[in-house]
Amino acid sequence: MLLAHHPSRVHALREPSARDPWRVLVSGCIANWPCGVDGTSYGMGEKSAEFLSLPTLIAIPFCPEQHALGTPRTMPDIHGGDGFDVLAGRAKVLDEHGTDLTEKMVAGARAMLEHAQRERVELAFLTDMSAACGSQVISDGCRLTETRKFQKGVGVATALLLEAGILVVSQRDYRTLALLRARLDPGYTPPAEVLDHHEHAWTREHLPGPHPRT
Ligand code: SF4
Repeated sequence: MLLAHHPSRVHALREPSARDPWRVLVSGCIANWPCGVDGTSYGMGEKSAEFLSLPTLIAIPFCPEQHALGTPRTMPDIHGGDGFDVLAGRAKVLDEHGTDLTEKMVAGARAMLEHAQRERVELAFLTDMSAACGSQVISDGCRLTETRKFQKGVGVATALLLEAGILVVSQRDYRTLALLRARLDPGYTPPAEVLDHHEHAWTREHLPGPHPRT
């Protein structure tokens, strides 16, 4: 598995340059596409704009859910496992009405992987908590309930990308993003105090233990 949390994986990436930038698959909503379930970018576009505008990086956006289900859409969440379990037929993706979206979510994930391979991406920068793009923490069953449950694990598209050997980092992995930024911009010094999502206080308290996919 190739979650990017280990600094050695970041250091193993080739040297980027403005002439030969890293080719980075990006969740559409991180690239400010209005592709969220509600037709917005979840307010994420501006947060990563500076990172994505570095001249040593080319952002290649894609939204697997929009591709397969359209926008706006109902809320997909994984029941009975994570994205790898969905691919293996052990878990399902259902929306808040109980409609089975498994087949479409797998189709969207396949389309994302095909796009990534066609574009020769070297890294994927994806939105955590999503049943498609999540990599560290996702919902455990439907999130639109009174008491939302969480699990450590990956979404369906992320599982397929990891299976194909593509390194994945989430928008909440601040430590790894800082290391990546330092590779992209040698004048940048990573701050010492930033943490990845699995190191945040909330995650350590509510979801202790190792990530099952690292
Ligand atoms: S499927 Fe991925 S790209 Fe699309 S809205 Fe959800 S997190 Fe963003």
